[in-house]
Amino acid sequence: MNARRAVSYQLVIEVMRPRRIAIGRLGTFEFAAGTYVYTGSARRNFEARIARHQRKAKPLRWHIDYLLAVRGVRILRIMRSPRAECALNQATAGQTSIAGFGASDCRAGCGSHLRHLGAQPG
Ligand SMILES: [Zn+2]
Repeated sequence: MNARRAVSYQLVIEVMRPRRIAIGRLGTFEFAAGTYVYTGSARRNFEARIARHQRKAKPLRWHIDYLLAVRGVRILRIMRSPRAECALNQATAGQTSIAGFGASDCRAGCGSHLRHLGAQPG
């Protein structure tokens, strides 16, 4: 295989209606309805991580788990990338959403690995 191996991924997520959601120890936040992009990475067991995100029933471990566990929140699309997680996140459109979300290990100053693209088009 010549393709560079994917190390990062992005989940395009739809929050169907405005919700208050508790994100573990990070706190409870108001999520506006609309489309969000979460950027994460997995250097090992990459596809297993993607599959885990797609399962509703699982122990809630990461911030993203708390968001995806909510009824009315769903993954619209999954993108895989060979780019580094933070570079990918910073190159993504939209506004930083929920300070600290998914960024516990971030050393690149992203602020959050969740971005809000705004209301669903159409
Ligand atoms: Zn980052």
